Amino acid sequence: MTIRDWFRPPRHLLALFVAATVVPALALGWMAWLSLGQDAALDRQRVQDTLDAAAGRVASELQRRLEDQSKGLATLSRDGTAQLRDDAVLLTIAGGRLTVWPTGRLLYYPPDAIITARREPPAVATGLADSETPRDVAIEAAAALEFQARDPEAAAAAFRRAANARNPAVQAQALVGLARCLRKMNRSQDALGVYDRLAQLGPARVEGVPADLVARHAGCALLALLKTSELQARARELLLDLQRPRWVLDRASFEFYAGEARGWLPADAVPLPPPARLALADAAGAVESLSRTADSASGRGWTTLWQRGCPLLVVWQNVPGGRIALVTGPSWLERPAAVWTSEKLLVALTDTNAHAHLGQPERLPKPVAIASAADTGLPWTVRVASADSGRVPSMLARNRRLLFGGFAVVGLLIVVGGFLVARALARELAVARLQRDFVSAVSHEFRSPLTSMKHLIEMLDQDAVPGEDRRRQYYRVLNAEADRLHKMVEDLLNFGRMEAGKAEYRFARLDVRALAGQVASDFAGQLAPPDRLEVSVAGPPSFVDADREALARAIRNLLDNAAKYSPPAAPIRLGIDEGAGTVSLSVRDEGAGIPAVEQKMIFTKFYRGADATRSGVKGTGLGLATVQHIVRAHHGDVRVDSAPGRGSVFSIVLPHAKEPMS
Ligand code: ADP
Repeated sequence: MTIRDWFRPPRHLLALFVAATVVPALALGWMAWLSLGQDAALDRQRVQDTLDAAAGRVASELQRRLEDQSKGLATLSRDGTAQLRDDAVLLTIAGGRLTVWPTGRLLYYPPDAIITARREPPAVATGLADSETPRDVAIEAAAALEFQARDPEAAAAAFRRAANARNPAVQAQALVGLARCLRKMNRSQDALGVYDRLAQLGPARVEGVPADLVARHAGCALLALLKTSELQARARELLLDLQRPRWVLDRASFEFYAGEARGWLPADAVPLPPPARLALADAAGAVESLSRTADSASGRGWTTLWQRGCPLLVVWQNVPGGRIALVTGPSWLERPAAVWTSEKLLVALTDTNAHAHLGQPERLPKPVAIASAADTGLPWTVRVASADSGRVPSMLARNRRLLFGGFAVVGLLIVVGGFLVARALARELAVARLQRDFVSAVSHEFRSPLTSMKHLIEMLDQDAVPGEDRRRQYYRVLNAEADRLHKMVEDLLNFGRMEAGKAEYRFARLDVRALAGQVASDFAGQLAPPDRLEVSVAGPPSFVDADREALARAIRNLLDNAAKYSPPAAPIRLGIDEGAGTVSLSVRDEGAGIPAVEQKMIFTKFYRGADATRSGVKGTGLGLATVQHIVRAHHGDVRVDSAPGRGSVFSIVLPHAKEPMS
């Protein structure tokens, strides 16, 4: 196989095209792909680095805030004007006393604690443990009458006297006893009156419980027995006061009284306190008990708590003889969280039990940077993601698109360029091949008449031709062969002129029917048998503006082909049809027909059909190219309608002459 064979379309050309374009384009694409992969890895690394740095920043910001908070606790506990958020309390545990600030924030207090609920400095003690019940002689005497002598009336009188004591605690005990005796005597209304009086007593406590709470609860219980409608309003007020909260109670008392009040009310009459408030009260209890056991030497610190599904933070500092602790809900994180949001960071904080104190760790978009609690000394593990991830294209992503676009354009150019070059090459090679075939065909066409002419001339020259008749016949043959050669040379020269654009057409008004008839009768003379040509061109004149000689040559070429490419006696029909503004001259034969693929090529110069070459039909491949040149010069069109085995129809369609020729 030679190199030229490689350029022979279409199989090798396809291979060449693939080798020259597709392979480099694929290589480029592959490189682009690799580069994109590297870019993506770099991009991921960059994002991860940024997030790691952000996680570091978040962690140190939290550390700083915790440090500041714990250092400032002592100042905070002294400063009565400072503000605490709604979900925070400050506990001071010193000398076994617990001071809670601000008051009224905890629903209940740690049991057994000496509590000082501080309003404004100085602290005001309202401790649970301050409520030791004083022993009083009058009370004991009244109780003896009630329980031993079983004389409620006398006991009531004794309690009534004792109720005039100066000590409010004694007064409270006396009133409780009095009401009890009255109830035993079925004097419910009087008992209610005594409870009302007891409720007015102020801060006095009965068995550690505020006297007014005892009185209001006992009043409600009595109303419940009496089944009066007043109960609902009183129970509701009692519950609301408990939840406000109005009293300093331990958890057990709070839950007991709240439970009692709810029992007297329809369900949902008073909403339950929010879990965060309960959680804060629980947390205060936890912190207080922790502080009792805590090593008071270890300066300050922080920890997280998880109570009733609510996150809490405890920041503490040891002070001589005790500890100050801030117990706070999630509001403590609001301010730094706002800063992180403005920096487009998504931050999630989880405690060691994986409870989320801020954000939703499982919802963070990937990638996520983690600063663990163990590494940072924080009470939380910090997780940071970018709020922008996947939305704003990074520099690298833009570069990547540019690169990809660039590669795509270059690849496309290579493919298109390669395709164009390959096509041009294929055409050139095809023309070269046709030319080569043409040269051999023409030489063959010339050689055979020349050979026979040379032979005849030699015989005539040597007087080897016997008889005058035979000599004359030889001269006629010589003349005919010379004509053929002359015609061939003329045809070649004419085609050369047409190709060079130098062909001159002398247009004149002529009747195409007359011209066709004349060409047909000339041509029929050369046919054997002449009646093989069926001509139907009769009719009123059909004028066209044409070069008589050129148009005649075109018609002749078509007739010539019809004769060449059909069996020797098969009929050939020449006809004329009038169209809208056109006249169509058709040559029909019953030859082998032309395959569809060849129909596209037969008007190309030098092109010869496969059948024509194989069967040795003489020709140069210029006939139809010449016809097309001529017809186009006449603003007309050549058409072919053919199929293998069905014969062919070639038509020359010309426009009618429009105006009279000058
Ligand atoms: P040539 O006849 O010298 O080969 P043409 O340009 O006249 O060249 O024709 C080109 C080709 O078209 C022919 O080689 C032949 O294959 C095909 N062809 C032309 N006319 C006919 C026809 N009437 N019937 C079948 N094939 C034809």
